[in-house]
Amino acid sequence: MTTTHTYDAVVVGGGGGGLRAAIELSERCRTAVLSKLYPTRSHTGAAQGGVCAALGNVEEDSPEWHAFDTVKGGDYLVDQPAALLMTEEAVEAIYQLERWGLPFNRTPDGRIDQRRFGGHTRNHGEAPVKRACYAADRTGHMILQTLYQQCVKRDVRFFNEFYCLDLLRDDAGVTVGIIAFELATGELHVFRAKAVVFATGGYGRMFRVTSNAHALTGDGPAVVWRRGIPLEDMEMFQFHPTGLARLGVLLSEAARGEGGIVLNSEGERFMERYAPTIKDLAPRDMVSRAIYQEIKEGRGGGPNGDWVYLDISHLDPKVVEEKLPDITEFARIYLKVEPLEEPVPIQPTAHYAMGGIPTDTDGRVVVGADEDVVPGLYAVGECACVSVHGANRLGTNSLLDLVVFGRRAGDDAARFVRETDLATPWEHPERPTLELLDGILGRTTGDNAGEIRKELTDKGARYNTDLMETVELGYLLDCADALVAGALERTESRGAHFREDHPLRDDANWLKHTLAYREPDGSIRIEYKPVKMGPYVPMERKY
Ligand SMILES: Cc1cc2nc3c(=O)[nH]c(=O)nc-3n(C[C@H](O)[C@H](O)[C@H](O)COP(=O)(O)OP(=O)(O)OC[C@H]3O[C@@H](n4cnc5c(N)ncnc54)[C@H](O)[C@@H]3O)c2cc1C
Repeated sequence: MTTTHTYDAVVVGGGGGGLRAAIELSERCRTAVLSKLYPTRSHTGAAQGGVCAALGNVEEDSPEWHAFDTVKGGDYLVDQPAALLMTEEAVEAIYQLERWGLPFNRTPDGRIDQRRFGGHTRNHGEAPVKRACYAADRTGHMILQTLYQQCVKRDVRFFNEFYCLDLLRDDAGVTVGIIAFELATGELHVFRAKAVVFATGGYGRMFRVTSNAHALTGDGPAVVWRRGIPLEDMEMFQFHPTGLARLGVLLSEAARGEGGIVLNSEGERFMERYAPTIKDLAPRDMVSRAIYQEIKEGRGGGPNGDWVYLDISHLDPKVVEEKLPDITEFARIYLKVEPLEEPVPIQPTAHYAMGGIPTDTDGRVVVGADEDVVPGLYAVGECACVSVHGANRLGTNSLLDLVVFGRRAGDDAARFVRETDLATPWEHPERPTLELLDGILGRTTGDNAGEIRKELTDKGARYNTDLMETVELGYLLDCADALVAGALERTESRGAHFREDHPLRDDANWLKHTLAYREPDGSIRIEYKPVKMGPYVPMERKY
């Protein structure tokens, strides 16, 4: 049985990006949010360290310095007009969260407090600057709760534990709606809508050691990819330097922002050699690579010599208690290490997808080198590529990306809804999804499902999580295919993308964005489009 619903706009994803878009939309049109998790369980709630804006509350700062840092941090693969826009709108976006009740940490005189984070500097690299606004090390949790309350207030209709499995586009490429699977019943639902906003988050689960939650399987990018939309800069995947050794559970960069340092097995503060000016607060790609280098040269610790250490034992316990309570607890619980007394074993952990569904600064999905707009289709948050993060995202710029571009996408989608008639879907638009699911359920032998997911036994309709995990595995494989294809072609090193056979950045040939398309026969075609430049001329990245 298939149920059909009709809305003006459907948002797929109840994390920070989706909720921020939904707030904007719901004031002007009938809006539904679909989420495979309960919205407040989205990964945004796990974000720890902060959300940045050049408020200048603690030290002098300016949006322009923030834009410079973002472009340099992204190793010049950032679209500069988008970065300038984001850093300019950041200030108002933070005050709006404050007005909605977000409990930020405060300065003694009552203003929003700010702390240091990697790659954020004063006056184009002079010294680290305090730019990250925060609520202890639970900033994402507070943002998610704040945005969710605003959605409830506006009567946004939520469909929880609904998995979007297909995007409906008509022959002219116009967005018609989506198909979703209801976990509780096993039923398929058709959602008709004039505008669809994808906000499904990242796909870090393709890696063994990752900071990402289980649900981060790249559903949005894979669903649209299968419907002809290219994916941008997928080879740019960030490894965060300080995951708990072997587990990948994140210890926020806020630890280093508050004065923590990384040490090798000889007790040396090695970042002084790699980034003499800002040391441990160098961007993540550089710190992760430095750790890799230390380990490779035999200065790693632990039984296999494959980790280094994060040391916060010299910090004032009161500061740790007030500003880093969760992550110190993680070290105690998961590694049985007391961070106030000894260094914590860490290693880089797969963390953040810079690439994703290509959009403009209004969240509209764009295809090809000419950036043709796909009518009615939007993407925001980690599943999207605006591109403000380029080849390497700076810490605290993602939560900012959600609120700035979530608002902009919601705003533009509401405009689009007002100006557009509802398109009529064809008969049985759910048919390809049924075939996909029946194909998985009908399999009794054979290599794929059997080999890849060893326990595919559940054939029931209700709460068939095995079925959904198999579908998600397919999404991860698609994202991984696109990532590898882009990485093999890009014969240079830039930001998070590092190749030992091509160790240098090559602006003459590679200052361009990758677009990976899935062809009908399953092969991948790669195209490129220019990076949008601006005031910042690429230079060697030194810190
Ligand atoms: C441990 C950790 C700490 C972090 N700390 C920071 C930080 O301090 N500062 C910072 O700026 N960034 C931080 N980040 C990054 C940042 O939190 C994320 O990039 C951001 O929150 C992603 O938000 P989102 O709205 O795009 O997606 P998410 O919050 O991941 O939400 C995705 C939503 O999509 C839904 N969904 C997915 N697939 C489907 C589907 N098929 N059908 C229906 N719904 C679907 C899910 O249910 C969920 O609601 C951190 C990330 C991690 C993992």
